[in-house]
Amino acid sequence: GEEPAEAAAVQVSATPLITVTEVKANVSMAEAAPKAAATGADGVGLLRTEHMMLSTGVHPRKFILDGEEDKLVDVIAEGVLKVADEFYPKPVWYRTLDAPTDEFITLEGGEDEPREHNPMLGWRGIRRELDEPEILKAEFKAIKKLHDKGYTNIGIMIPLSQHPSELRRAKEICREVGLEPQVDVEFGMMVEIPAAAILIDEYIAEGIDFVSLGTNDLTQYTLAVDRNNEFVAKHYREEHPAVMALIERTIKHCAAAGVTCSICGQAGSVPHIVEKLVKFGITSVSSNTDAVEEVRKTVARAEKKIMLDAARKQL
Ligand code: PEP
Ligand code: MG
Repeated sequence: GEEPAEAAAVQVSATPLITVTEVKANVSMAEAAPKAAATGADGVGLLRTEHMMLSTGVHPRKFILDGEEDKLVDVIAEGVLKVADEFYPKPVWYRTLDAPTDEFITLEGGEDEPREHNPMLGWRGIRRELDEPEILKAEFKAIKKLHDKGYTNIGIMIPLSQHPSELRRAKEICREVGLEPQVDVEFGMMVEIPAAAILIDEYIAEGIDFVSLGTNDLTQYTLAVDRNNEFVAKHYREEHPAVMALIERTIKHCAAAGVTCSICGQAGSVPHIVEKLVKFGITSVSSNTDAVEEVRKTVARAEKKIMLDAARKQL
């Protein structure tokens, strides 16, 4: 058992720090959900499915080809359930599959994956899922299954979109499994290609509940710097004025339209960037579990500074 003194110390450090801007956790493994929830995070701003799906060792397409779609649906549903349950009723944004082709090759059934010169500019995210809608459908079926059990806190987040028409098609596939986007489930997207930031008003007109800035990709695509290439790593700068301009634009256009705008890329854990995000009007910051507490403090400091600056201007 715990010593009383230790328990008291834990009590003090666990005093919740309240921020207007929500602070959420990124989760990649279902088993990590309890630790993420214990941080007091306001939800999961990014639930990555790649680990849950690829850790089966089997290519998701193989389940479909083998007539075992149910198994794939169950694998996804089991993983998402752990996270949705741990966080209930706080929102959990499930991001649909977004693995580059090189991560599929070693899987059973992955032999036919294309060998791409640059997987980061290749067949991944929603563009791939619309070419292989059976996998996307299996993901939606898993969410529908949990939704039917009462887990109404799961939202759908579409990665790597470069045109609003992709969201329209994804929504149609969602409807095919019996889930009405924006009615039964929150439906949103990641902004991680400059085209999406530029077309944000068109996306909003298409109908989205939320946006999350994927600055890891937004940075690489804005600056033409492969995030996995060490030779250009020094050019990878989230605070580059062009990246910041796209971020600012996205947050402000969303705020003007009343659309929730979050960030789940690493830039959300960089203190001087967080201050700007809060100033622009971001509604939540989602970071790795280990960083949640620190991000919460940074956000609180930024909010306090903004309020004090406003008060001083009044005087
Ligand atoms: C991002 O691109 O910022 C992001 C959070 O997604 P991932 O790192 O999984 O590509
Ligand atoms: Mg990304």
